[in-house]
Amino acid sequence: MEIHSRQIIGTTDGPHLLITGGVHGDEFEPMAAIRRLMREVDPVQLRGRLTLVPVVNEAAFLRGARTAEDERDLARTCPGRPDGSVTEQTAHAISQLIRTADYFIDLHTGGTTMSVLPLTGYKLVPDEAVRETQRRMAHAFNLPLVWGTDYRLEGRTLSVARDAGVPAIYAEYLGRGLCDPAGIDAYVEGCLNVMAELDMLDRERPASRVERTVDDFRESAGHMQIRNPSPITGFFEPSVQLGGDVKAGEPLGTVTDILGDNVIPALSQESGTVIVLRTFSRVHAGDTLAVVLEDV
Ligand SMILES: [Zn+2]
Repeated sequence: MEIHSRQIIGTTDGPHLLITGGVHGDEFEPMAAIRRLMREVDPVQLRGRLTLVPVVNEAAFLRGARTAEDERDLARTCPGRPDGSVTEQTAHAISQLIRTADYFIDLHTGGTTMSVLPLTGYKLVPDEAVRETQRRMAHAFNLPLVWGTDYRLEGRTLSVARDAGVPAIYAEYLGRGLCDPAGIDAYVEGCLNVMAELDMLDRERPASRVERTVDDFRESAGHMQIRNPSPITGFFEPSVQLGGDVKAGEPLGTVTDILGDNVIPALSQESGTVIVLRTFSRVHAGDTLAVVLEDV
């Protein structure tokens, strides 16, 4: 399995930073942002080495879907196997690349079906030096929310980085199957800000746009796909907005059957801020409708 990448090698020594997009094939701002970094990072100004992967999961991208044809989530399959299914092979290849890096940024969005409040996340790993570096990278990336979550979650690119001791962050920026120019800008800026923070570039640091920092050490914190599952397969109509507040027991919206005879309210399991909201109306029973960020 070959993953297409480009390297920019600086004229001065420094660390090796890996930036990836398209772990999920329907997340487009990361792909565009990484291609812009290929054009805009000047090797003369760069200290160290940059490896840029716009589309990790090419099989999924070509399907226009989150996953490749085996329908395995690449972000649950790492570190994968060299002789497995297409997603297992991709997981193996990207895991090997992650282990060669000194620092790692993995860019995502909500894909075709969800929208995510712009945020930067990292694992609250026990190693304090790695955790502090990740916290610095996440703040430097400069999106409104910085979210530290359970380090024990497996199968992610960040799980591979954790096991290899590579400081790593991920980012989310809306979704809905769009490619928002503001999201591309925010991702290019975020990566350049992190490079400046790691002393790979000289760059004036912008004023902080971080509005909220949440550290959630609870087990499975950060696992978005298990929150607020749809009660039935049907048509979801939200009654909350992304970034809005909701209380536990209040409706997130309704899920309706084909003729509308059965309209089931979907009640929030938590009190807090809606940071992920389903935007694709068809939903399968058990799929996430929303993620609510609790005050912890
Ligand atoms: Zn993703």
